[in-house]
Formats: sequence, C-alpha cells, structure tokens
Amino acid sequence: MIPLPPSESCPVQRILADLFARHRGCVEGHVASYIPELAKADPDTFGICVATTDGHLYEVGDSRHRFTIQSISKPFVYGLALDEHGLGPMARKVGVEPSGDAFNAISLAKEDGRPLNPMINAGAIATTGQVAAASPGDRIATILDMLRRYTGRTLDIDTAVYESEARTGHRNRAIGHLLRNHDVLTDDPTAAVDDYFRQCSVLVDCRDLAIMAATLANRGVNPLTGERAIRVEHVHSVLSVMASCGMYDSSGSWLYDVGMPAKSGVGGGVLAVLAGQFGIGVFSPRLDKRGNSVRAVRVCVDLSRVWELHQFDPPYCPQTSRRLSYSCAVRHSTRVRREAEFACLRDHGDAVCVHEVQGMLTLATAEPVVRTILAKLEGVKALIIDFGHVTGINASAARILADLAAEIGRRGSRVLFTTTDHLPDLSRIVAEHLGQPTATALCQFAALDPAMESCEDGIIRSFLPAPVPAGSRLDSWEITVGMSATELAVFQSLVSQRTFHCGDRIVRQGDDAHDLFLIVRGVIGVWLGDDSGDARRIASYSAGTMVGGMAFIDGQPRSATLVAESMVDCSVLSRDAFDRLERSHPAMYARMLRNIAASLSAKLRHANESLGVLGNRNG
Ligand code: GLN
Repeated sequence: MIPLPPSESCPVQRILADLFARHRGCVEGHVASYIPELAKADPDTFGICVATTDGHLYEVGDSRHRFTIQSISKPFVYGLALDEHGLGPMARKVGVEPSGDAFNAISLAKEDGRPLNPMINAGAIATTGQVAAASPGDRIATILDMLRRYTGRTLDIDTAVYESEARTGHRNRAIGHLLRNHDVLTDDPTAAVDDYFRQCSVLVDCRDLAIMAATLANRGVNPLTGERAIRVEHVHSVLSVMASCGMYDSSGSWLYDVGMPAKSGVGGGVLAVLAGQFGIGVFSPRLDKRGNSVRAVRVCVDLSRVWELHQFDPPYCPQTSRRLSYSCAVRHSTRVRREAEFACLRDHGDAVCVHEVQGMLTLATAEPVVRTILAKLEGVKALIIDFGHVTGINASAARILADLAAEIGRRGSRVLFTTTDHLPDLSRIVAEHLGQPTATALCQFAALDPAMESCEDGIIRSFLPAPVPAGSRLDSWEITVGMSATELAVFQSLVSQRTFHCGDRIVRQGDDAHDLFLIVRGVIGVWLGDDSGDARRIASYSAGTMVGGMAFIDGQPRSATLVAESMVDCSVLSRDAFDRLERSHPAMYARMLRNIAASLSAKLRHANESLGVLGNRNG
C-alpha cells in the first residue's frame, strides 16, 4: 500500500485522503466469483487516483495494486473500432441505447440482432469482432497497443484470469454465436470472443485508469506522454456511451448522482471522466448486485458532490470572455510620440476600438464579444480584436468571429487581430468560410502593441501634416524647451549626428550609459531580456522624442536594449558634454535637467492613464 503522503500539505490530496478514510471501513458487497480466478482478489484492497489534464497525479491507498480491467476495456475498444471504421459502419453493428439490463444480458435489437450498446457484453464482443485482424494474435496486439497509448506503459494480460474466463465463459460464447447468427459477426465468433476474454484480462492499476480517463478528458491526448490515443472526433462518442450505459443497469442513477461518463468492471475498477478537467480511477473489489464496486461508486458520488463535478452543473460564466474594451483615444500603444501626436490621438483616437478577449472561446463565450463589438461600431474606422489572452477556441466560435470580421469589412472598417499559439489561424478559417478576398482584408499581428501602433500611425498620418524632420528646428525638442537663441547655439555645438541601420543595437541592456539619443528620423524599439529567445519589446520611440534619459540621469547601467527599427538618424548628447555644461552654463544645465525630468514624468503620466483604463474591466 502506498503510504498516505503528508496530506496536510496539499488540500486536494487531503480531500482524497479523507474520502479514502471515510469509505475504507465499508465492507458491503462481494468479490466477483463467477470467473473463479477473480474470487482470489483481496477484498480489502482500495485505491484512488485522480489525474489532471495537465498530467498531475494524486494517489491514495493501493493505487498501484494491479487488477484486471474487465469491462473498463469496452469503451476503449469501441473507440478503436470507431477509429478504424467510422461512426456509420459501427452504427450498423452496435447501437447506442441503454439497455437497462445486466451486463451479461442478451440485449439484441429485435429487428436485426444488433446489440443495444457497446458497454454490455453482447455489444462489446461485437465491437471487438470489428477490430481488424489479419492473422491470429493481431487483434489483441492492436488492442494492447491502443491501451498502451492511453496508459503510457506496456500492459500485460493476467493469463490465469484469461484462462479462468475462457474455461467458464459459456454465456459469452453463446452471445458470440448469436451475433454470428445475426451476421453482426461475419467470421467464426470463437476468435472474437477469445480476444474479448483477453482484453478483459489486461492488468491495470488505479493510476492507469486515472490516466486513461484523463486522456479522454484531454480530447484524446495522453497528458503525460502527449501521445494521441483516439481521434479527437470520436472522443465524445465514447464518452456518450459511457454516460448512458457505462455503469450497466445503474447508469441512470449514476448519471443522476455523479453526472460523469464512467465505466466499471467486475475486477473492482471504476473510471470516470470529467471532460476538460480530470480523470478518476478507483479500485475496490467488493461489488454490488449489478457488478459495480461498492466503495468506488461511493467515492465517486462524494467526489462529485465535494468538487462540484456534475456535468449538468457547468462551472463557467460566459461573460468572462470580455477582458477590456477601449478606444485609442484613451489608451495608447507603448510607442512614445511627440506631444502633438498624443494630442491628435486623444482627439481622433475614437475611430479605433480595441477589444481584448480572454479565456476559452466557445459559441457561448464568443457571443457576448460579438454582440458588444457590433453595438459599439458607430464611427469606428478600425477594429482591433486581441486574442493574446485566449486559451483556446472551438470551430463554432472561430466561425462567428470570422463572420463578424467579414461584416465589419463590408461596412468599410478595417479589422486587425492578434494571434497566439493557442489559436488556429483565423485568416485560414475566414478563407475557408468566407473566401480568400475577405481573409486578405484582415490584418494579422503577433501582438496587440504593434497592431495599435499601426492604427495610431494611420490616425496621425490622416490628421497631422507630414512631420518636418524632427530636429530641423532645434527648439522643437523636449530638451530644448525654453532655451534662448544663444543656448540653442551652444546646444547645437554639443550634439553629434549618428545614423543607425535597421536592426542595429544602439545600446545594450546592462551597458554603462554615456549618451542621450534625440531621434531625428526613424523608430527605436526598447527590448528587455537577452538574445536567448525570451526578449520582449516593451516600447518604442518615434522621431521627435528622446530616449536613454533614465540611465543618462541616474548613471545606472542601461535598463533595456535599444534597437533601430528602421533607418534611424539621431542627435546624440554625451554624458561628458552634459557634465561640462554644469560648470560652463549652469542655468542652461538646470533647464535641460528640468526638461529631461518633464519628459520622464510625461511618460509616467501616460503609463498611469493606461493603468486607469486597465482597471476599467469590461468597459
Ligand atoms: N469479462 C467479464 C465478462 O464478460 C467482464 C464483465 C464486466 O466487467 N462487467 O463477464
């Protein structure tokens, strides 16, 4: 038995330990004995394991004790048959209706002899018979390999249990012959029934069950190995038959009480799936009259209640997909611009609207986004939809967002959107649904900031006269504000001219600071981090602004790297020249210090304004 880990340290583990302690004393039910070898199970063994969809395991009790999988193999083999044949052909072999009968009942449809569902023995034997087998031994090898993808480890068959079941499984053999009689099985049924006995005798533990369940919860991808175990489009089909038929003739009350797709086996195992969240495996061999583990059912009932796992108690609130909405008049990109340009953005920025979206986008969560955007379209010339905080999107949400983009395009506005790794290529979806011309009308950006910059540049271009090269008038710099003609002449003698090419590093983070850069032409980007791949662009500076002021003033090493984003011409003031000024022209020196301080405080003001908008959630 795995010793109970220090449960006090982890609240999740503590809940499992409490459940384990609460149900350990329950000795109701009996170990299965109709397969003689199963009767040898130690009735007191008891284990619980929960696996998360990001691959973390919580285990209590005998979670590594091996037992035979029995009927828990059925949904997985059904998934394999679906992957091999598809839904239509499989529907002609096995139905999906709960039978309400015991697992070994001969529940075949009157008209065509099809078993009612793949979770009862008749349906399971029919399903196993569909798995392709070129030669004897092929089929069980395919089944074992499929189960390996779910558990992440190679599995063995308990030969004693297999032989015991093969010796005594006359009823299952009879079912096999009936299926052959109805042409559900088209070959000698002996092989299919034999492979069914073998698949039931595969040895697993609670940990395996939890990981198998977590794989189904994770849309078919094993969260520990990353391997796909079943095609994504068949996951919900498997979960559906588990929900309606997985607990035999207790399936109705199980769904009512626990509300999760699940499967039990007469070996004492129960596996339950909470789609998108958890996989649960519980083992205890004493069974109730219907063949379900008594303790395992109780643990799942309690866990569902304590953790609020019932599928018909959905946890999320659709409104949370709207993160922030604002116009470019009230919040700007991180581009530092001349004051005249900022004033222009404040006056005309309402023509650009930004909608930041977050979380998982489904129809229900994307619908409020679409609704809000449509309601706020009046006077909007460009719309930015930022998916930077989106964790996933399904096809229906992508479809309505694509339709929205097309509609906005038809109304003559531009649509810009950002993409992240979590998102499928929205342009591709738009191209598929709405045609290539619409897709190419969309502008795609790697991040929100460059998308905003591009819109701001557009506003400034259409409302401000083309900028005279900055610095052609010496008194147009922030640093020269208030200087006399003589002082301006001194200033001019202090600065030198430098040109940088696109991509040049102008200063590096950590360097000693010597210079202040006044940008005459071009754009300078500000980057944090090194070249190892995690560098991040945090701001940029336009012509007419100055950069490098912080380190220039406080003498600390450069706090960031400056990179020329185009051809850049600068007037450069060196620290030495500035220091000399303190003695030669103290009044001018003081004025320049004040001007640098004013420039830095203007940046702080802009940052504060942006923070004000960020506080205004769902605005
Ligand atoms: N091998 C068992 C049988 O067919 C499986 C039944 C079960 O787990 N309910 O009898």
